[in-house]
Amino acid sequence: MSSSHAVYGRWVLASAGGEAPELRTDAWVVVEDGLIAEVTGERPRGIPVYEIPDAFVLPGFVNCHNHCSSALLTRGLTEDRSTGNPAEELVYRILMPLGALAVEILSDREMRAVMALGMVEIIKGGSTTLVEVFRAGARETFDVAIELGLRFYGALYVFSSAELGFSSEGRITYGEAGTEIRGLDESLAAHQRYHGSEDDRIRVALAPHGADTCGPELLRAVRRTADELGCLMTIHLAQSAQEVEKVVAEHGMRPAEYLEHCGLLGPRLIAAHCIYCNDEELEILRRTDTTVVSCPRTFSRVGLSAAYARFAGKGIRTVLGTDGYNMDFVTEMRAAGLASKLHFGDGGAADAHEVVEAGTRRGAAALGREDLGRIEPGARADLTVVDMGRPHLQPVSDPLRTMVWNVDRADVAATLVDGRYLVRDGALQTGDERDIVRRGAAAVEKLWREARARGLLDERWQVAWGGGRHRPALSPPAPAPRGRQPSRSLRPGGDRGGVRRRR
Ligand SMILES: [Zn+2]
Repeated sequence: MSSSHAVYGRWVLASAGGEAPELRTDAWVVVEDGLIAEVTGERPRGIPVYEIPDAFVLPGFVNCHNHCSSALLTRGLTEDRSTGNPAEELVYRILMPLGALAVEILSDREMRAVMALGMVEIIKGGSTTLVEVFRAGARETFDVAIELGLRFYGALYVFSSAELGFSSEGRITYGEAGTEIRGLDESLAAHQRYHGSEDDRIRVALAPHGADTCGPELLRAVRRTADELGCLMTIHLAQSAQEVEKVVAEHGMRPAEYLEHCGLLGPRLIAAHCIYCNDEELEILRRTDTTVVSCPRTFSRVGLSAAYARFAGKGIRTVLGTDGYNMDFVTEMRAAGLASKLHFGDGGAADAHEVVEAGTRRGAAALGREDLGRIEPGARADLTVVDMGRPHLQPVSDPLRTMVWNVDRADVAATLVDGRYLVRDGALQTGDERDIVRRGAAAVEKLWREARARGLLDERWQVAWGGGRHRPALSPPAPAPRGRQPSRSLRPGGDRGGVRRRR
């Protein structure tokens, strides 16, 4: 039995025959069996319709790099800090130790609750496809994605050296670099179990963690495995100055050169961030047809520029991701535009058309998917519907510009994947939102209590304004809960700065 329905758009960003999308007005997107059957100006008869007067129907957003747990475990903890090594501290002092602690102390149910809350945020923000890179809990993560209905690329970290820390001198510390490969077996098991499941809504990618944490044997093994499985790879590349230093010291080449040397670069690799790549490295990425995924907000919170147009302007296939920070894809597109305009001092840099293209069709191209990121007959019916009738969007002159520069996630009225409503009238359709929020938040709060007890978070991490050079006068911080005094301080430059990964 076929199932047809239609979605009305006062504006529809539709294309035909793979050509650049154009705005159609007063059109209906007709969906049949999860695919787009046609885009027509005539109101369809005899099938259910979804009709909001000022709807803007776009291809579902393709979010190419994210960490749901990072977003939740560090919400409100990472902003408003002045530090000497912002990228290093953010990643190696905060994100990774808290991620490791979550793996250690949260039960499977709690882990699942955290992932569910993160994915609900993603879906309600308009992303229909998510590339999620994560540390552990494969079963919980894939199962939640399946239940909530996301189109999901799950990628478990693979490391050579997973024992990461941060010294009191402000240096990243690495465990013994061995030839041991951690995580590839789990990735293979996940691939076997999930890849292609749910009518191919679920896929598995390989995720060597970074150029500094993965040795050449591991990177070559990842490439071989990806070739055998025919799957995507994703890695963090040149995300901190110390990563560059370490790779140069150990291998005598810069990070992108090192990845090329190990055979990793190419159209099946999505390299996240690349903010410390020099121009020669960017040329290597362009020449090898490697994708760069730019996540501007994750770095702007610590004062670093990650301008989308720096990569796209070099002819590199550049796409967008929310990187586990404020997982609102529309405002990430906006940030990509703003960061580029600031970086180049040019208001014309990264315009609305450009960033929407990066967030839809080009994102799909990075995944090797011609059936995603476009509204045309035969494509998967993955749609994001924005309600442009809201007061703060009036009047609408250029819908695409209004979308990028004025809309936020609260204006997303519906998201559909394979023609199925995940969100409709702003409400989650595939789960109990209140319950997901309650359980997810409780799990994170449990983690924070333990992190404070172990001294991973000091009082200042609980106070949004603490620690910075521009600290305003504050009342003294609240005392730690009784019986849970921090065991050691982790102030930058403090005497007990080492955050070792607990396992
Ligand atoms: Zn990341």
